[in-house]
Amino acid sequence: MCVTMTRVRLLVFNVALGALDYRVPEGMLVQPGSVVVAPLGPRQILGIAWEPARLEAGEVPEAKLRPIVEVLPVPPLPTALRRLIEWTADYYCAPMSAVARMALASSAALKGGGTVIEYRLTGEEPARLTPQRLAALDALHGEQATIRELAEIAGVSEGVLRGLVSAGALEPVAVDIDRPYPKADPDFAVPELSGDQQLAADTFSNAVRERAFRPFLLDGVTGSGKTECYFEAIAEALRLGRQTLVLLPEIALTQNFLRRFEQRFGVPPLLWHSSVKSTERRRAWRAIVSGEAQVVVGARSALFLPYANLGLIVIDEAHEVSFKQDDGVRYNARDVAVIRARFEQVPVILASATPALESLQLAENGIYERIELPDRFGGASLPDIGIVDLRHEPPERGRWLAPRLLREIEARLERGEQSLLFLNRRGYAPLTLCRSCGHRFACPNCSAWLVEHRFSRRLACHHCGHGVATPDACPECGEKDCLVACGPGVERIAEEVRELLPGARIAQATSDTLNTPERITEFVEAAEQGAIDVIVCTQLVTKGYHFPELTLVGVVDADLGLEGGDLRAGERTYQQIAQVAGRAGRGDKPGHVLIQTRHPEAPVIAALAAGDRDAFYEAETQGRREAGAPPFGRWAAIIVSSEDEAEAREAARAIGGSRPSHPDIAILGPAPAPLSLLRGRYRYRLLINARRSAQLQKVLRQWLDPLQFPRGVRVSIDVDPYSFV
Ligand code: ADP
Ligand code: ZN
Repeated sequence: MCVTMTRVRLLVFNVALGALDYRVPEGMLVQPGSVVVAPLGPRQILGIAWEPARLEAGEVPEAKLRPIVEVLPVPPLPTALRRLIEWTADYYCAPMSAVARMALASSAALKGGGTVIEYRLTGEEPARLTPQRLAALDALHGEQATIRELAEIAGVSEGVLRGLVSAGALEPVAVDIDRPYPKADPDFAVPELSGDQQLAADTFSNAVRERAFRPFLLDGVTGSGKTECYFEAIAEALRLGRQTLVLLPEIALTQNFLRRFEQRFGVPPLLWHSSVKSTERRRAWRAIVSGEAQVVVGARSALFLPYANLGLIVIDEAHEVSFKQDDGVRYNARDVAVIRARFEQVPVILASATPALESLQLAENGIYERIELPDRFGGASLPDIGIVDLRHEPPERGRWLAPRLLREIEARLERGEQSLLFLNRRGYAPLTLCRSCGHRFACPNCSAWLVEHRFSRRLACHHCGHGVATPDACPECGEKDCLVACGPGVERIAEEVRELLPGARIAQATSDTLNTPERITEFVEAAEQGAIDVIVCTQLVTKGYHFPELTLVGVVDADLGLEGGDLRAGERTYQQIAQVAGRAGRGDKPGHVLIQTRHPEAPVIAALAAGDRDAFYEAETQGRREAGAPPFGRWAAIIVSSEDEAEAREAARAIGGSRPSHPDIAILGPAPAPLSLLRGRYRYRLLINARRSAQLQKVLRQWLDPLQFPRGVRVSIDVDPYSFV
């Protein structure tokens, strides 16, 4: 249906303004969802036509409104998406404009089709070769992009590249933004599915055909073929000419997904995340709104794009906490994806080997349909799990790997098999201190220690990015060579393996070492081909990958995640360790997992050792029920911050002082946040625990909206928080 409007309420991208009314000049066609340009003072601004505004008493009459300047040549944002934006803003107490901005993502894409000029090497050698020119020629092999992007790739200035253009070594290519993507073939390489897999795949395909809102929890052990099953649902959407959105928790996982997708469908899917280059984003966005994009895979930010013809949503590794965004709009992409599926009336598949307790509970209540894959594909068995009690089998002094774990790695080396050591901590050591005066290196901007990165010879803050070169002498007492590294990070574990097992080929896999798609691919290929003996890694590569020769997984410190009093610590530890354990024994050789701990009796460790997932979830569910914690009750956090400590404290106190009294709501705090200083801002927190029946958002708004704070104070609301620091 096409609604034409003469008066329109615009959602403008300026939080302070809210909605504004404009007049639609005669002859201009503005529909709900149209993206338009409108005057504001002397400027022109971008806005989205939200609804035909009805004239209410006291409002400016139409004739006095300023007219819309222009409707941009892109399809209007679909109704389902506008409802989603409203829902998200309402649920997470966020400004609508901030949510809507995520749907547009690229202002260049709104200007219509056209060409961009990209550059590529001609193969000609320039007459004059400087070291910079040589470096550029070397780095730009096979690349084609804008000058700015090429400069970034090659690590030289744009001037150097312009010089190469004049010298004839780089040539311009006009690229049509709207050139079509190659079509995926649903029948390119159809796998033969096992009985369970086939059942799951058929259920999904039926749901896609039905085009109804059906949320599925695809609960299958690691290596059971969850990806293969939801690929069949994607195949069905492809056949029907509908779009699929696949959300992955981290950009690092997209590389591997691209490869598997291409093997199955003949061409890669469209990628959407923050590091996709701008011309590609522009092209992808336009293909998404036109409906031409078939399958889009991305991180959180792909969720709000204006898909023209969505037919299916998949959320892989759906339990991952990184679906929760903790800056800007604080939303959970997993939860909003389910809501989007409801507004769009399409099925949504949440795939996981260790579902979030919230998701399991929804399945239990019959809201999600649970589809189980209890066995690994191809008869592979799940790894057996053993415990190394560090109190009884300690590593040597100054070392971190227990003798038994080392012997197991050695045995793998002899047999030509792989081992993986997991420690979720980047760098060499989490704390550095002076042996002479006891000085500890702390971040000046955060209440956190600086982490030593020995490879890059730096001390760095993992919260704000502050870094200094590792000094030779203590800055406090001036003593030389007196710095001591306390505790292990991945670099230190790798060093230990290198020293104790010389000859082992070791790869460190963290976001420090695998920081480009090329490096990730290189690592994955080396690991698959058996060119690596020992992988030492953070959680970056503990999911999604399939290394057939990997038969041993060592968890260096299972207790790490249990410290700190996070309310989901047990669940998160369980998921993380089960996930990394799932890398072992995926080929035909059985896998073995050793977990180093000082608390073998802790329920989560005991459940992992016994392989008793149900018992763990049951105990955890019981605990949550008793505490009124999610999913049985609801939480929200209020975070108050300012660069001025007294100002932050005062504001937090004022919020605490005007707390509402409500029988269904308990309010804790304000108290200094565990991370009481972050990026130079002092922080206070309040935690709200509400019964499910309470109107939490309404209470929050009525409480906070009337309060006024000094300009330097920031107050943010975190609904369903995952972080408590
Ligand atoms: P999950 O996502 O459950 O961990 P995957 O989908 O990654 O499992 O499957 C594990 C491995 O088994 C992958 O290498 C996958 O290609 C393979 N596999 C699973 N099912 C099949 C099948 N039906 N035919 C061929 N290979 C399969
Ligand atoms: Zn810092």
